Amino acid sequence: MKVIGNQIQEEGLKYSKEEIKKSLVTELLATRQIGNKIRAKNIAKQSGLPLIWVDKVPGHNGEKGIDKLNAERSILLLRDRVSPFIDQFQHPIGRCAKFYKLTAYNNCNFWCEYCYLYLTFRTQPVSTHFINYEKMYDEVIKFDRLKIPKSLRVLNLGELGDPLAVDHITGFAGRIIPFMPEHAPKTQLLFLTKSDCVDEILPLDHGGQSIISFSVNTDAVFHQLEHRTASPESRLAAAAKVQSAGYDVRLRIDPVFFYSTWEEDYIKLVDKIFEYFQPTRITIGEYRPSNGLANHISSRFPDSPLLKINRSLVKEGKKLRYPKSLRIKMFGTIIEAIKNYGSDIDISLCKEQPEIWRALGLDMKGLKCNCLG
Ligand code: SF4
Repeated sequence: MKVIGNQIQEEGLKYSKEEIKKSLVTELLATRQIGNKIRAKNIAKQSGLPLIWVDKVPGHNGEKGIDKLNAERSILLLRDRVSPFIDQFQHPIGRCAKFYKLTAYNNCNFWCEYCYLYLTFRTQPVSTHFINYEKMYDEVIKFDRLKIPKSLRVLNLGELGDPLAVDHITGFAGRIIPFMPEHAPKTQLLFLTKSDCVDEILPLDHGGQSIISFSVNTDAVFHQLEHRTASPESRLAAAAKVQSAGYDVRLRIDPVFFYSTWEEDYIKLVDKIFEYFQPTRITIGEYRPSNGLANHISSRFPDSPLLKINRSLVKEGKKLRYPKSLRIKMFGTIIEAIKNYGSDIDISLCKEQPEIWRALGLDMKGLKCNCLG
């Protein structure tokens, strides 16, 4: 087999330790048009940061490398959301269920090199939290009354940002989680995260309606590509804590990378997962950048190993992917390792072709993947 992208452990942008240790948010901004200025001031008070009022949403900046990341993702902008908070996800070629998203954040304060949001938010790249919660609550209540199948009664908060990355500043999870049992009893929330900051949500009255899903990867991928996130082991420790607090806890192993020690590393990751807790569902996906993402990666991470990896992937629709035979081999290895821990764990693939599911003996009927109820 052709070796593709074995550079992950050997290369990668060497961020200074100081840069990575810095607080995720060093500047807190708010637009003057905000309706509830007291709320913005309270968030600032909680963060210990001065609040800087701005006339408009900062746009594209001319920076490069770490300066660019700092200009976009060391800032948190508070503003009101004008578009709907809730809308339905539509995969361009129908390779995913039409799940619903709840957009409380645009963009993220973590610095994963493979993050697709660099492309999504190319014109408004500053990490943002929307604080006109009343509009959001209203939409959640209306959503709860819709006649839709149970599997779609989940609002995904992790599609356009990590919903727990800066929760220690916004305190948003502490508002929305207890809101659900009282006002939207038929709807679940899904928090997809690489954070380990879960202590604030442990005592909340969640009514079994919030799912906390941790995205985990090997230590090599974490060290080289997932800057400023919690370590995989800390995420697993956090997963064990939220499970003890009664939350439904899921896992994503995504994006899976092919590199020199991938096989032993992913098997070790699976063993580590089950040392900590028993997930109800595990969803797996491979590195699959959009065609246009490479430029956005290189303007922030000019030495990223991903640029080399991208050149050896194959085009499938609007994405680049590992060749099918390699995907089957990588997924098969991980699935076999998971099955050693029991056959009652729901395993699924993210946005993958039916022939890959079939090749791995997985059943697409009654799909039980990360984003569905
Ligand atoms: S945690 Fe997710 S949203 Fe945040 S930088 Fe990483 S990939 Fe992007």
